[in-house]
Parts: sequence; structure tokens; C-alpha cells
Amino acid sequence: MRAKIVAGNWKMNNNAGETQALAQGLVDAISNTDAQVVIAPTAVNLANAVTLTENSPIEVAAQNMHFADSGAYTGEISADMLQSIGVQTVILGHSERRAYFGEDDALLEKKVNQALAKGMQVIFCFGEELEERQADRHFEVVGSQLKNALYKLDAAAWKQIVLAYEPVWAIGTGETASPEQAQEMHAFIRKSLTEAYDAELANGVSILYGGSVKPANAKEIFSKPDVDGGLIGGASLKVADFKAIVDSI
Ligand code: PGA
Repeated sequence: MRAKIVAGNWKMNNNAGETQALAQGLVDAISNTDAQVVIAPTAVNLANAVTLTENSPIEVAAQNMHFADSGAYTGEISADMLQSIGVQTVILGHSERRAYFGEDDALLEKKVNQALAKGMQVIFCFGEELEERQADRHFEVVGSQLKNALYKLDAAAWKQIVLAYEPVWAIGTGETASPEQAQEMHAFIRKSLTEAYDAELANGVSILYGGSVKPANAKEIFSKPDVDGGLIGGASLKVADFKAIVDSI
């Protein structure tokens, strides 16, 4: 059975006090759930979030990290720094990192390899842009994003990977992929994994959908057979919305 996961990507939102309030609110609201629940606050608030969620089912992830062990990389954060405060999961490849910070497949491959070498879990994001879907290139784009960053990995490494399909045109736009579009792409991803590895591996990898998931559409999206949960941006910033999405799994 694949893990069901609902992850909240807080992006560059919430100062220390707001992090405290939201994390505490989620700890109070979320207890019994079949989903693995993850929150990803901004880096400076990770340590506090780890402390706040200690005796809860909520796990804390970073939104990014560097590929090097340490050294002259001003402003960057290493795997060891994250692990030293109790963070074992990292989101990599988010479309905002790709678009605004120039992260390409080759860089992401290095980051993934570093996270895996350190024993961390990776939530790996990818997805096509609007023009690519309009040109009917979405399967090709997603296939190459996966192949370039991930398909040199050993089969065993996939135990540490969760995939998050996030069509760029659906992120923060209020426009969601339809449940059918999500299912169609997730089935394509599983087929691609089957071809690169085998069916057993493909069936064991959790594939999340992300892009304007909210309480009103979560249940229908999550009901699709190849959708194993969601990566939530905007709707992860309010306790009631995020809890409703977690309850939709
Ligand atoms: P959104 O963001 O839910 O606000 O569309 C999703 C994401 O960027 O992970």
C-alpha cells in the first residue's frame, strides 16, 4: 500500500509568531488521520516548528536545500543543518525554485542525490507550464523532468522519494487541473516509472497532486486511483482549510 500524504508548502509566508500559531493550531486540530501530514515552513522557522509538532502526527519538511555538504555558499542551507534540528524531509524542484531561482534538472539531480545520500526523504516537484500543455507537450515535458533528475537512481533510492505533480498553470491561480487531468498524468507517471524500473516500484511510489487544491475539490482529486495525496500551497495557511483537506484523504 502506498502512503497517503498531505503536505503544506507554506512558501515565503508566516513569521515566527505566525508559524507558532499555525503549527499549534494544526497540532490541536489534526490527530486521527490516515494521511501522513507534512508542513513546510520557511527555513528560519523550521526549528520552532519541529519543537511545536514533536508529539503530533505532523512532520516538518524544508522547502529547499543545497547539494554541498558545507562551505562557501552564502545564504544556503545544508542537509546536515536540517537534520541537526530534526528535519528529515525536503521539498525539491518546486516550480517557483525552477522559475525564479534558475533551478534546472541538472542542479536538481545533484540536490536529490545529496538528500538521498544523507538519508533524507524528498518530495520532488515537477510539472508543465501552460504553453507546454496548450502545445500538447505535457507528457513529454514531465517525462523528461523525471528522467533527467531521477532515473539514474537505484531502485532502492525510491523508498525515499515522493513525487508531486504540479502543473505550473494551476499553482496559485485558482485554476485546478480537473481530477481527470490529474489522474491521466499520474497514470502516465506510473507508466514511465514502470518502463524505467518495474511495476512493483512504480506501484510503491506515492504521487501527490499540487495546484489550487482546496477543501472544495480535494476529495474528488484524492479519489482518483493514482493520486496519493496533495501538495498544498495557499490552502495550507489556514487551520480549517488544511484540516479539511487532510480529512479528504
Ligand atoms: P497552491 O500551491 O496550492 O497555492 O496552488 C501549490 C504549490 O505550489 O505547491
